[in-house]
Amino acid sequence: MTNFSKHNFKGQKALVRVDFNVPLNDKLEITDDSRMKAAIPTIQKIMADGGKVILMSHLGRPKNGPEDKFSLKHLVKHLSELLQGATVLFANDCVGEQAYLTASMMREGEVLMLENLRFYKEEQKGDEAFAQKLAALGDVWVNDAFGTAHRAHASTAVIGQYFPPEKKFFGLLMQNEISSAEKVLHKSEKPFAAIIGGAKVSDKILIIENLLDKATDIIIGGGMAYTFMKAQGGKIGNSLCEDDRLETALQILEKAKQKNVHIHLPSDSVIADKFSNDADSKEAPSNEIPNGWMGLDIGSKAINDFAAILEKSKTILWNGPMGVFEMTKFQNGTKAIALAVAAATQKGAFSLVGGGDSVAAVNQFDLAAKVSYVSTGGGALLEYFEGKQLPGIAAVEQ
Ligand code: AMP
Repeated sequence: MTNFSKHNFKGQKALVRVDFNVPLNDKLEITDDSRMKAAIPTIQKIMADGGKVILMSHLGRPKNGPEDKFSLKHLVKHLSELLQGATVLFANDCVGEQAYLTASMMREGEVLMLENLRFYKEEQKGDEAFAQKLAALGDVWVNDAFGTAHRAHASTAVIGQYFPPEKKFFGLLMQNEISSAEKVLHKSEKPFAAIIGGAKVSDKILIIENLLDKATDIIIGGGMAYTFMKAQGGKIGNSLCEDDRLETALQILEKAKQKNVHIHLPSDSVIADKFSNDADSKEAPSNEIPNGWMGLDIGSKAINDFAAILEKSKTILWNGPMGVFEMTKFQNGTKAIALAVAAATQKGAFSLVGGGDSVAAVNQFDLAAKVSYVSTGGGALLEYFEGKQLPGIAAVEQ
């Protein structure tokens, strides 16, 4: 692997794997371009050097070959705008004659967008012959798709074997993602508080177990907190609960005690008589929720407890909301925690927010600029924090 920033791409065809899997509406207009924006610095650096940028990405989930609604041609005009009007060429296949001819005729500083990789089943299968065909398009390979780094697909990982170490790079987005995640997982300044929320314990067991060796405090909120409450004999009414994980919850609490990690559960909750924004609601201790009621947010005492921990923290990882923040009535806990993370960051803590819903939450409350780093990788970030080696990282490093 070579350092991307120090390399001069002049005259080279740089095959760049980006994650342009953006949402499109019925009119095939982009409704959120943040993934495209995130890759712009990498593209611009290669263009500025006088390199030739060949972009590969997937879009959506095409089932049987090409489908117009999943074509990357719908992104070309906007990509050109994001690149200050630069010409963006398009090849209506990601391999094959047109792609090769266009790539071979590119001039320095030009950009070529290839058609959706997932029009070929071989992409997700990690097919070697397909990866080799892609590799033949470029002189060097740049992986800038953190969002798919946990997948061993042809363009995200398998392709790496066709480039020697000095011809493969992490793009700038990948570099930032990896260094932020590393800072939290391997170089954290203590105290290190991890906030884990969301719906299900089962989705977060591996990450909690791995964090037991890293964090000082683990704050658990959201629907998953009630499985922990019930496991300890609490009454949780109709709150979300995974009865097959009660034993796991107890084991996690026991392991935390042995490792001297403080697990914090919400002492009180905002409870509601139905799963709706117009439900009747009130506060109650999280282990005394009456039948017919359910905990849909953390309560005011829990907010104060959690904020006090965050205030003292030097490193913060946040994954998953504290309640059903999509409904205004139950967003207060998630918003208060977002504000507490922002306040701790201002006092010098390093804060990393990652995983779909917590990212949506900081954006909703306009706080993304007030935390240290917002990750673009949902599943990939989770797997990183579960302690797994990500194929998209390994393929560049090996
Ligand atoms: P996850 O994808 O596991 O991070 O979960 C995010 C989802 O959990 C969001 O859609 C929240 O609305 C939901 N959620 C958070 N807290 C609760 C709760 N107390 N009860 C039910 N759902 C919740």
